[in-house]
Amino acid sequence: MNKVFLFFLSMLLSGLFQSAATYGQEVVTPPASTERVVVATRVLPPFIVKMEDDYAGFSAELWQELARRTNVSFDWLETENVKTILAAVESNAAQVGIAAISITSAREQQFDFSQPMFESGLQVMVAANDDGGFSLREFFGYFTQGAMPYLLGILALLILIPGHVVWFAERRHKEPAFSPQYIPGIFQAMAWALSAAAGQQNGDPRSRLGKFMSVVAIFVSLLFLTYWQAELTSSFTVQQLQGDISGPDDLPGKHVGTTIASTSAAYLATKQAKVSEFKTIAEAFADLETGKLDAVVFDAPVLLYHAAHAGRGKVRVVGPVFKRENYGILFPRGSEMRKRVNEALLTMREDGTYDILYNKWFTVE
Ligand code: GLU
Repeated sequence: MNKVFLFFLSMLLSGLFQSAATYGQEVVTPPASTERVVVATRVLPPFIVKMEDDYAGFSAELWQELARRTNVSFDWLETENVKTILAAVESNAAQVGIAAISITSAREQQFDFSQPMFESGLQVMVAANDDGGFSLREFFGYFTQGAMPYLLGILALLILIPGHVVWFAERRHKEPAFSPQYIPGIFQAMAWALSAAAGQQNGDPRSRLGKFMSVVAIFVSLLFLTYWQAELTSSFTVQQLQGDISGPDDLPGKHVGTTIASTSAAYLATKQAKVSEFKTIAEAFADLETGKLDAVVFDAPVLLYHAAHAGRGKVRVVGPVFKRENYGILFPRGSEMRKRVNEALLTMREDGTYDILYNKWFTVE
């Protein structure tokens, strides 16, 4: 009797514990999701940061949370830029796109966007040494552009030709101004020619031809020096103008880089700039740092993040944020997921999760 009672009691208790455990599980874990989508993205810190076998970053973590809340399983599909993300969603290789995708009227015609998930805009970035400080490259630039190489050539001729003529003329004179030996005589004569070209005369030639040469040299060098001075001034001015990019208004005529088919590329097409469109923004950053580009125009938060991290000390962001735009999550036209994702996104904004994520990636310590 006792044994039978104990048996029933233990059955009852284990049943109770089991249902309590199951009940507890149901509360914390949503039912296994059956929906699986592919999410196209591209590496773009601080929005998408590549980790060993996953992604971090504001957009990646936002999506991870949205997927959890809307009960969607997903696989990432890494592409190169906004163009390739749009292409992946268009061809249905992916059902969602997220990175730093600007909501534009043209894209809205072809796709559906979520509620704005981030407020952004464009900005200009230049190499850090463009601040008027001394740079050897810039210094040598003065002598290699415009008429400067020709002027240096003329100066060489103004020393070589009169130097030789005067040395030959003086050689036969009783009291030559220079040594009659070719060396060191020719160097003395060229030093005289150089001083003549600079408007001074050291050591007077005694011969008639030498004296005549003096007059010619002074006259020619007077003209030459005036021209040289004008050319030097304009060369300095051009250099200063070229180095002086302090915002979007200074872009015309400059060599500017950005990514292919981006909103920055569309903006630059309306400016008189020499534009290079790169597959990835990392390539544009590299060319700016090696001096192949005068500036990069791109999404302000991406530029600011680069300037504060990998590009620290090498680049700086200049001028205001212009052409303000919002980022959205990209869906194919008529995607039924969009409404659920929007609801979850708004809840994240309301319950403070959005702000925690924002501060994690955009608060400057
Ligand atoms: N916000 C830019 C755009 O949507 C990003 C460009 C890119 O990701 O390459 O055009």
